[in-house]
Amino acid sequence: MKVDCLVVGAGPAGSVTAGDLARRGVETLVVEKKAEIGPPKRCAEGVSQRSLEALGINPHPHSIARTITGAALYAPSGKQVVMEGQGMEGYVLERKIFEKHLASQAIQAGARYMVKTQVLDMQRVNGAWEAQIRGLEGTETVTADLVIGADGVESKVGRWAGLKSLNRLTDYHSGFQYEMANVSVNESYIHLFFGREVAPLGYVWVFPKAFSANVGLGILEREARMRSHQYLKRFIANHPEMFARASPIEVNGGGIPVNHFTDMVADGVMLVGDAAQLVNPIHGGGIVRAMHSAQMAAEVGASALREGDLSRDRLLSYRRQWDQVYEDKTAQLLKLRFFLEKLEDKDFELLADILDGADIFELTQARLSFFIKKVLKRPSLLGLAKKYLTD
Ligand SMILES: Cc1cc2nc3c(=O)[nH]c(=O)nc-3n(C[C@H](O)[C@H](O)[C@H](O)COP(=O)(O)OP(=O)(O)OC[C@H]3O[C@@H](n4cnc5c(N)ncnc54)[C@H](O)[C@@H]3O)c2cc1C
Repeated sequence: MKVDCLVVGAGPAGSVTAGDLARRGVETLVVEKKAEIGPPKRCAEGVSQRSLEALGINPHPHSIARTITGAALYAPSGKQVVMEGQGMEGYVLERKIFEKHLASQAIQAGARYMVKTQVLDMQRVNGAWEAQIRGLEGTETVTADLVIGADGVESKVGRWAGLKSLNRLTDYHSGFQYEMANVSVNESYIHLFFGREVAPLGYVWVFPKAFSANVGLGILEREARMRSHQYLKRFIANHPEMFARASPIEVNGGGIPVNHFTDMVADGVMLVGDAAQLVNPIHGGGIVRAMHSAQMAAEVGASALREGDLSRDRLLSYRRQWDQVYEDKTAQLLKLRFFLEKLEDKDFELLADILDGADIFELTQARLSFFIKKVLKRPSLLGLAKKYLTD
């Protein structure tokens, strides 16, 4: 089989790329190894409403499990800081439906999908890519001028294309999560809990859905004394006010690539979303960045196909677009993360005293200068702030 573009993986990144390519008239085949697009989710399903709007992505009403008005953050002592107001509204999605909706939009635009079909390998042959796929009909070869690696955090497309596509394993956050029924929380907010003993170098989340909640955590295992599920079990046991009458209805987990990865392009190949490790390094959210990278890659890919130039040099304009929007912001957020990783529980308490919700919102937008001024005034944080936050 011969196509203009083969998209490997039908997560948010793959389906947004496929839809945008098909709308530009590119003959696009999406291959998804799972029998069903969507499940099992490896995600807490939280997204910012404003970020989706900025991308022009309108989730189908059935994809929205709950609309939230803000976030509540908790220091180790339980002290709460609420972020609420303009820009803080968001959704907890039902990803199983969200992903199927994105796929159906791509199909309406003209893309073709194969499910329960896995790309096994691919080679560069005569200036195109030949991919071996195995599906319901057996094994066959797909020849494509352009391959989009949308195959998630364990991307093989990157490796097949010779890209350095993995961080050190120690840089991944290990995510573990239950979806639980009958959790007692304020359902207007998502809830985030911090502390060395709560979730080393990460946080616990409770994201309310329609009649359940995603209760999970991401931790950096190299700093942990237990496995991630043991931290979560302990957190649940320590919070009977939320979980006394709750039980799991699903369990899932996965790696979250919190370090930034830069090699996204090879001859005839672009990596999008988690395959290029494009998550937000401060909170690990990757859905919006996956779809934004997909939009950029589709625009560049369609033009490059029209011009008949799929060289790495031509496709690098995708990388440049990405850097223009995200490079500085990501560098600032990484700086902030390295600072936060050094904090003791008592420092989190101090931050909860000196920062309000609006301050924390500013931080999530990578605006650090006011924060640096504030922490430089605190003798206990001065050394760390000088080391990690000032240039
Ligand atoms: C525990 C956890 C919680 C998270 N919570 C959030 C959150 O609340 N908000 C947020 O924004 N982000 C969150 N994330 C991150 C988010 O889930 C990812 O950033 C997002 O799914 C990336 O989308 P993607 O399309 O790049 O990859 P994926 O969603 O991983 O999709 C990749 C697809 O490729 C398919 N595939 C892989 N290899 C092949 C192959 N060889 N052939 C065919 N198909 C293949 C897979 O089956 C999969 O469907 C979380 C992650 C974890 C692990």
